Amino acid sequence: MDPALVKLALGGIALLGCIGLFFGIGLALAAHRFAVEANPLIEEVLESLAGAQCGGCGYPGCEGYAIAVVTNPEVPPNLCYPGKEKVAERVAQLTGKKMTAVEDMIALVRCSRKEGRVSHKHEYIGFASCTAANLGFGGPSSCNYAAPVSGPVPSGSSS
Ligand code: SF4
Repeated sequence: MDPALVKLALGGIALLGCIGLFFGIGLALAAHRFAVEANPLIEEVLESLAGAQCGGCGYPGCEGYAIAVVTNPEVPPNLCYPGKEKVAERVAQLTGKKMTAVEDMIALVRCSRKEGRVSHKHEYIGFASCTAANLGFGGPSSCNYAAPVSGPVPSGSSS
């Protein structure tokens, strides 16, 4: 093999090694310098939540609620509805907050046809699929849940 080519290859390998080492050290220093200290209590609370990521607590996922309940004294420990009393008690215990009852949530279907809230916008004639029907001006039905309720509203709901 040509010694000039070997020398060139070894030089390339050495150069790439030096570049890799340089950036590796740079990244390690940056990670050390900008490291964010994690609150272990947030992790503990997060692990005790129901983990459904449903947003029922009003926060963007379980982590959002865990951060809020640990860092904000105003956030109560009983907002994880899927976790019910057991989770609320654990969160209250971890955060040192006062445990209060978990209120049951009742879903109110605002676009129920039974309540007469859905009017007919247009006639859809096409491929028999909800997705296809929805592509045509949002589908043939409309739902105006700002309209007054004609029937009785379940107690505990707001309209
Ligand atoms: S209600 Fe509970 S399970 Fe749902 S997102 Fe909030 S903390 Fe997670």
